[in-house]
Amino acid sequence: MNVTKLPMDPCPAGWNAILPPQAEYPELENAQTADWLVIGAGFAGLAAARRLRQLHPKDRIVILEARRVAHGPAGRNSGFMIDLPHNLTSEDYGGALEADRKHARLNRAAIDFNADAAAEYDLSGEAFCRPGKTNAAATTKGMRHNQTYSAHLTRLGEAHEMLDAQQMRQMTGSSFYQGGLYTPGAALIQPAMFVRGVADGLSKQGVALLEMSPVIRLERDGASWRAETPKGQISAAKVLLAVNGHVESFGFFTRRLIHIYLYASFTRRLTAQEVKTLGGEPRWGVTPADPLGSTVRRISGTGGDRIVVRNRVSYHANRECSEEKVAAFGKSHDKSFAARFPMLKDVEMEHRWGGQLCLAWNGAPAFGELEQNLFSACCQNGLGTAKGTLSGILAAELASGHQSQNLQDLLAEPEPSRLPPEPFCWIGATAQMRWGEFKAGAEL
Ligand SMILES: Cc1cc2nc3c(=O)[nH]c(=O)nc-3n(C[C@H](O)[C@H](O)[C@H](O)COP(=O)(O)OP(=O)(O)OC[C@H]3O[C@@H](n4cnc5c(N)ncnc54)[C@H](O)[C@@H]3O)c2cc1C
Repeated sequence: MNVTKLPMDPCPAGWNAILPPQAEYPELENAQTADWLVIGAGFAGLAAARRLRQLHPKDRIVILEARRVAHGPAGRNSGFMIDLPHNLTSEDYGGALEADRKHARLNRAAIDFNADAAAEYDLSGEAFCRPGKTNAAATTKGMRHNQTYSAHLTRLGEAHEMLDAQQMRQMTGSSFYQGGLYTPGAALIQPAMFVRGVADGLSKQGVALLEMSPVIRLERDGASWRAETPKGQISAAKVLLAVNGHVESFGFFTRRLIHIYLYASFTRRLTAQEVKTLGGEPRWGVTPADPLGSTVRRISGTGGDRIVVRNRVSYHANRECSEEKVAAFGKSHDKSFAARFPMLKDVEMEHRWGGQLCLAWNGAPAFGELEQNLFSACCQNGLGTAKGTLSGILAAELASGHQSQNLQDLLAEPEPSRLPPEPFCWIGATAQMRWGEFKAGAEL
């Protein structure tokens, strides 16, 4: 397999840019062997390596990452590790009851695994904490979405609480929201800090992490596999592909994955006076009541007090996105920020970026044994902090012959369904996204 395309995510992400310099890992520069090779150091790759380390303490485990650790999508997302059903293609995030119960159980197993990693590697509460999350509603329609979702959660037997406008203001400092729906089970991470921390922890446990080492060719070598990078090669008995949508570059799940980019902007550091004027709590995060609205977070700690806004989505079958696109969607972030925080009218955005991810039309994962001793932990359907972690853990278990109920459940999922040919897919996906954003109205 010649790898047809390498990852590119436009502009450095604010999450990483506000942190101190990170640990550097070497590039692969020679010929090596390993028992296990994990390709990709996002949530799936790091979770796979950690699970492999638990199952095989003496084996040599290598991770090859095309870029620097935490520079890819794992270090540029909004950091909501969500336990409950969060179906991005439904009106209110809900789905069928039994399927939602199963997904909540699986997502929780992944969040517990990451909580355990955070404790094991001594990560701060800024890198990983579990405060729950709120679906914020700015409009009557958003409130209706929350009520429908609340009824669905009641049917599922899931704890939740409706917040009124005053409670939303107490949390966010903003009078923009009419209400919210709080659920207690989600974790919030500083994504770049969390990913760096887990990578450092694994490295101290003897996992060999090699950065700036994109796999450009993967070929069978008897029962093993040989991966080539521009400067070296590794032969490994078993290989786990944890590259999300780039699994298509390896020749798998072709025309089954919808490649999209999401966009975010980070304010400059707020001054002490601005923090006072804003009010609210120092750290919070809200997802939108309408799936195509704006996700907003306030952070404080390393890098100061800031606000992060994420909205807009675009379809890119070629997995390429320009900095111009980031700048164009940045205008939408400015508008959403101004609507929510009129008291911060002099605060400008300091960092803007985009990041790539993929979905399947039927919401299925690209998971399983692809060929003998070659495994996939890909296609997280936009919720990779939890689902990527889960598929990494379970791909490690599958490759190790380890049985579990969670593994059976993931294996029972369908595979990503086939997409319509281009340009119909582009037209359909883009029309659906633009219409969804239009319908989101002031929730955007
Ligand atoms: C702006 C934004 C906001 C988001 N918000 C959230 C959120 O709040 N919650 C949530 O759950 N998800 C969110 N996501 C999605 C989430 O970031 C992804 O679903 C998640 O990163 C997927 O994890 P992963 O490990 O499967 O893949 P990735 O994180 O993409 O990791 C795959 C890694 O593989 C590497 N790679 C690819 N090809 C090769 C190769 N040939 N050789 C070596 N390495 C390779 C890449 O460089 C990358 O580092 C967001 C995404 C964006 C962009």
